[in-house]
Amino acid sequence: MTSRKRPWPNLFIVARKLAEYEAKRDFKRTPEPGAKVPRKETRAPRFVVQEHHARRLHWDFRLEKDGVGVSWAVPKGIPPDPKKNHLAVHVEDHPLEYFKFAGEIPKGEYGGGQVLIWDEGTYDPIKWSDREVMVVLHGKRLNGRYVLFQTRGKDWMIHRMDPPQDPDRQPMPQKLEPMLAKLSSKLPTPDDAWGFEFKWDGIRAVAFVDGGIVRLQSRTGENITPRYPEIHAMGRALGSSEVILDGEIVALDEKGRPSFEEIQQRMGLTAEPDIRRKMKEVPVTYMIFDVIWQDGHSLMDQPYTDRRQALAKLKLGGASWQTPPYEKGGGQTMKDASAKAGLEGVMAKKLDSKYEPGRRSGAWQKVKNRNRQELVIAGWLEGEGKRRGYPGALLVGYYDKGKFVYAGKVGTGFTDAILEDLNKKLKPLAADKSPFDAGAPPRAAHFVKPKIVAEFEFVEWTRGGQLRAPAFKGFRNDKAAKDVVREGG
Ligand code: MN
Repeated sequence: MTSRKRPWPNLFIVARKLAEYEAKRDFKRTPEPGAKVPRKETRAPRFVVQEHHARRLHWDFRLEKDGVGVSWAVPKGIPPDPKKNHLAVHVEDHPLEYFKFAGEIPKGEYGGGQVLIWDEGTYDPIKWSDREVMVVLHGKRLNGRYVLFQTRGKDWMIHRMDPPQDPDRQPMPQKLEPMLAKLSSKLPTPDDAWGFEFKWDGIRAVAFVDGGIVRLQSRTGENITPRYPEIHAMGRALGSSEVILDGEIVALDEKGRPSFEEIQQRMGLTAEPDIRRKMKEVPVTYMIFDVIWQDGHSLMDQPYTDRRQALAKLKLGGASWQTPPYEKGGGQTMKDASAKAGLEGVMAKKLDSKYEPGRRSGAWQKVKNRNRQELVIAGWLEGEGKRRGYPGALLVGYYDKGKFVYAGKVGTGFTDAILEDLNKKLKPLAADKSPFDAGAPPRAAHFVKPKIVAEFEFVEWTRGGQLRAPAFKGFRNDKAAKDVVREGG
């Protein structure tokens, strides 16, 4: 019998079992061997993987060998798939007592941070040299053959040799277009077939999390990770879970409401010192509302309610990320609450609907308290008085089956900084001819190539297809001009 977990009591039992054997013999007289409890145990050697929340999250992999724990620090964790090798940095041998260590190393001490036992068990050694270690692991989580091999100095790689433990495991997609919502003027019916969430007014972002590392992707597929450093720590909270999340990055105004005007101050920044400075002034929060992928499996075909349940289990709530709840039914109450809180509106999601990447299927609907949509800026009218030298009004449009349609003039909603910005952005795009294929823009306008997308608020669409009482709300660097279509009304 070998014992995997508690060798000491086992030795005690061995000693007691040998007591009778010992009592019957006088070892000064007999050549038989004494009842010496073997100092070296005959059990299989142990392994442990400790999740270590040090300055950088990593996993410590230790193999019992000749009375010590031979150790590697693995920044991305033990690879579940033979297709993916992970770096494993060879570190100093640890005492065997360390295999049972879990707890908090004080801040400021070497390796300060929490240590959890991620997996433990025994292993069969297959091959052991200075440069290559091959083992078969028998753990609670890990089972199968692994090899560690030296690449350079202390740098080794760890590779799974057996097929993935989970035979249906798929590699995580690297890109994903988020599902889109149809604009609706009314709450959908029947009320109890829908889930309702608050609509967050910010930047849509899909988060890919693997090995404790977060990668944020914009709606257009751009990598926006460096722009939002406060969200990176979410990777730690997820540990070794592999997930794709969907959500909205928001900035709160002084009243604690998500403000598109505020987030704009963050979304354009790319230089690290600027981002770090602005982070203190305009911190962001990632509002998570979906989980699309988990540990080698797509959740896209599961109904919304199941995905929300999986999301709730992740317990994602931190300083800079939240999982706001949804309500089954009760759309009107949610909408009233959203208006009272000064929010943009509600999202209605069909309870039994799948996640359809890149599609606007109608299973998701946005119901806004005011009308709002993105439009492309394609010209301006000269300002007068105080606005001389700046745009007095913008000419905006949208695409309809490839044709660029004039939607009206927008003369309000600009701060001085935005007017400066507009001048900088629009002047280099000057065009001789009107870019509009349909509608009647004023002739005295300065036209520009239709590249700049911005968001506008307005009362309604007129029968002639013009915006009534529109106001500028902010630039949308995250949207491509070609994708701007009339959303409803
Ligand atoms: Mn460590």
